[in-house]
Amino acid sequence: MFYNSTRNSDIKVSSAEAITQGISAEGGLFVPESIPSITLDEVKALGEMNYADRAAYVFKKFLTDFTDAEIHYCTDNAYSVKSFETESIAEISHLFDGTYMLELWHGPTCAFKDMALQILPYFLTTSAKKINLDKKIVILVATSGDTGKAALEGFKDVEGTQILVFYPEQGVSPMQKRQMKTQEGENVGVCALKGNFDDCQNGVKAIFTNEEIKEKLAENSMMFSSANSINWGRLVPQIVYYISSYADLVKGGEIQLGDKINIVVPTGNFGNILAAYYAKHMGIPVNKLICASNINNVLTDFINTGVYDRNRQFYATTSPSMDILISSNLERLLYLMTGRNDETIKDWFGQLAANGRYEVSADVKAKLTEEFCAGFCDDEQTKNTIHEIYEKYSYTCDTHTAVAVKVYEDYKRETGDTTKTVIASTASPYKFSASVLEAVEGGKSELDEYDMVAKLAELSNIPVPSALADLRNKPERFNDSIEKDAMKEYVLKNLGI
Ligand SMILES: *Cc1c(COP(=O)(O)O)cnc(C)c1O
Repeated sequence: MFYNSTRNSDIKVSSAEAITQGISAEGGLFVPESIPSITLDEVKALGEMNYADRAAYVFKKFLTDFTDAEIHYCTDNAYSVKSFETESIAEISHLFDGTYMLELWHGPTCAFKDMALQILPYFLTTSAKKINLDKKIVILVATSGDTGKAALEGFKDVEGTQILVFYPEQGVSPMQKRQMKTQEGENVGVCALKGNFDDCQNGVKAIFTNEEIKEKLAENSMMFSSANSINWGRLVPQIVYYISSYADLVKGGEIQLGDKINIVVPTGNFGNILAAYYAKHMGIPVNKLICASNINNVLTDFINTGVYDRNRQFYATTSPSMDILISSNLERLLYLMTGRNDETIKDWFGQLAANGRYEVSADVKAKLTEEFCAGFCDDEQTKNTIHEIYEKYSYTCDTHTAVAVKVYEDYKRETGDTTKTVIASTASPYKFSASVLEAVEGGKSELDEYDMVAKLAELSNIPVPSALADLRNKPERFNDSIEKDAMKEYVLKNLGI
């Protein structure tokens, strides 16, 4: 299996090269040259395996340059009870008749990003070895909260890597700040920036592309790589849990082998729902892929009209990980839907960069509405949904997941579709304790963050994740705070070069 770039189909690299490079040199994203298939018999057989083996089985179809031993080294290290609080890793919980929650948040940072960021470091170091890059991999991350912590936990003490995370001093929640400041591991660094998220991101980008710094790293046997969601190494692990959930539903007798399901995904950067699209096209029987957005509903409009227009107001919501106006993984979907037409992709994404808007062709519009449904809801509806499902089903869900539940309820009412449905549950309710508690109790809480967690534990009957329970007593290790223009020196000093 080789990988092409969405902006140049002639580029052809191995998966090890695609993963170490992260993004193609001309700015395109790597996609596998074909979508491998999985038969229903294979899916059924997966039901008898543990999660790490299911993942390995799927990866062998995509990472054909990896040996079996290399793949198992990655999966066994990433998907074990050492880092996940449930043996099934991706847990299915029955919400109401024919509706299932796929809980993807039992990892070390309580959000679904762990599903990919627990394994990416192993993919990266293995890939680097395979292509004889005998270098230490240096990961720089700019974060608005969740990705930084998940990346830190993933790369913590992984041999041959070093990670440095920058966050905006005033731009993350107190809990997120504490999670990062108390990070453990010998190869990690965390630093606050006197600026906003864009300053962090611009600073990191400038360092990534600075020739002088790159040379300095090379002289010291180091290289930069990226842990963000444009890396194929972050997307492929997400395909696994959709296949795995189908195998579990068959095994549990909830569906018959071959029955179609709907999949609902609370969406921001379009990575998670694109993985579901891949699972479908590999052979998982899927009726509709339902794309749920918050009030930043650029994707709802796009799927319903074929016009992508980011020229609109940006809102900060109670589901912050979906507050996004440019969904980068859409580029991969459109590449597939245009029959891998790199010229068209360059044209559309050029228009997006220049004017913030593009409109797809009539046949792509038709494909979009055939495969996807889209809807959105605002913060008030999100809050009401958390309250309702808590009252009706004694189930506590986080704000992002609630957006998906609400959009699905609307879909079901409008279409009368009774197909069994899997909803991707992307974060632990504890991760957004303040909003969830307010929704459950029907009023704002006066408690501090830790007491809110305790209160939520009483109300929800969900055990507090150990990562959050320990937080109060952990010593802070990282208190550096720097000016925007001091990032370059800080990185070099941190690397000791
Ligand atoms: C990142 C994130 C999302 C959005 O996922 P995408 O792959 O970016 O679409 C949804 N919910 C939570 C909790 C997240 O952290």
